[in-house]
Amino acid sequence: MAIIGIVKEPEGENRVAALPEIASQLVKMNFEVLVEKGAGANAFASDDEYSAQGAKLTSKDEVLGVSDIILKINSLTKGEISKLKPGAIALAIFQPFFNSDVVYQLLDKNITGFSLETIPRTTRAQTMDVLSSQATVAGYKAVLLAASHLPKFFQMLMTAAGSITPAKVLILGAGVAGLQAIVTARNLGAVVEAFDTRSAVKEEVQSLGAKFVEVEGAKDEASAGGYAVEQTDEFKQKQRQMIHDHAVKSNVIITTAQIPGRKAPVLITKETVNEMKPGAVIVDLAASTGGNCELTKNNETVNINAVSIIGNSNLPSTVPFDASKMFGKNVLNFLKLILKDGKIDLNFEDDLVKGTCITHNKEIINQKLKEILASQGK
Ligand code: NAD
Repeated sequence: MAIIGIVKEPEGENRVAALPEIASQLVKMNFEVLVEKGAGANAFASDDEYSAQGAKLTSKDEVLGVSDIILKINSLTKGEISKLKPGAIALAIFQPFFNSDVVYQLLDKNITGFSLETIPRTTRAQTMDVLSSQATVAGYKAVLLAASHLPKFFQMLMTAAGSITPAKVLILGAGVAGLQAIVTARNLGAVVEAFDTRSAVKEEVQSLGAKFVEVEGAKDEASAGGYAVEQTDEFKQKQRQMIHDHAVKSNVIITTAQIPGRKAPVLITKETVNEMKPGAVIVDLAASTGGNCELTKNNETVNINAVSIIGNSNLPSTVPFDASKMFGKNVLNFLKLILKDGKIDLNFEDDLVKGTCITHNKEIINQKLKEILASQGK
């Protein structure tokens, strides 16, 4: 019987890769499940709950040393990889394009690494897409953070003590996080505008009750698989001016604009921040890739000219129960692709298995990773 292990995340990370309900499903699928003691504690899943679902609680070293498949959210550390048994499978968000040392260690130890964030973004992959599930959490929490920092209401109020105008919220980037931010801000009663270089999202933005701010001449490429592409200088100039004009009238800006594998585009300049309303709040969800605001500091909240700029890069960890629940469901759906009748069955003909696999049998499998490492002469 194959063994599936769940280990504790690093200090400061509250999520866990699989809650007891997922452990229970794996047990029912005829796997032995080992859980590091305390792995779910910060996500409000106790050791007793895992035990009740048929999992065995033990030390980290034992989980790492005997498991055939290890589940984690954050990349395994070098110390953790060194304890895995050769030939084991490790599933995590390895960020292999930025983390080549770990890739080489996986190769060295003959570990099959599946990096869940590299799954191709096709319709079939939607139930396994950890970037989407965690971006949903981030978009929601970004709005709540903004609301709690803002010195005014989000909603309009007509009270005996006078009328309150609703907050104006500008969302930059209407991908998964941005669309969820629109929904949450609208639910709190704000007036919401959104901007994205992909005109395809216009109708979706409008259907959620927000106004779509348009800049003509955006480059949209079907070949980019639904992602944004780098824009021309002329477009960027027009876009900067338009964003500036809307930003200075906003109480809250949530920025989510990212381009895969590249530094995030700067959409809010120092000059714009200086002209924003006192008390305004920017939540920059692109902080970890450089930030969409020129003044963002990753994992810090700074206050400049009475504007708060929140650069917390790991908002999903602040909603650990539901973020773990969604992550675990993504993992379970992915595991169903590589497990058959209680056994591991890797089918590299399947584009989802191949696209997500970074290392197998001491070889790099993911094509983009192969190209990136080759271009670095490695
Ligand atoms: P992301 O996190 O890479 O980017 C967030 C948003 O920022 C995107 O909508 C992007 O267009 C936008 N952006 C980039 N540069 C910008 C700029 N200069 N100005 C304004 N906006 C800019 O993207 P994401 O949210 O992970 O996903 C993007 C899209 O991918 C989705 O909307 C969807 O179409 C597709 N997707 C498909 C699947 C699937 O089918 N499995 C899953 C998730 C997403």
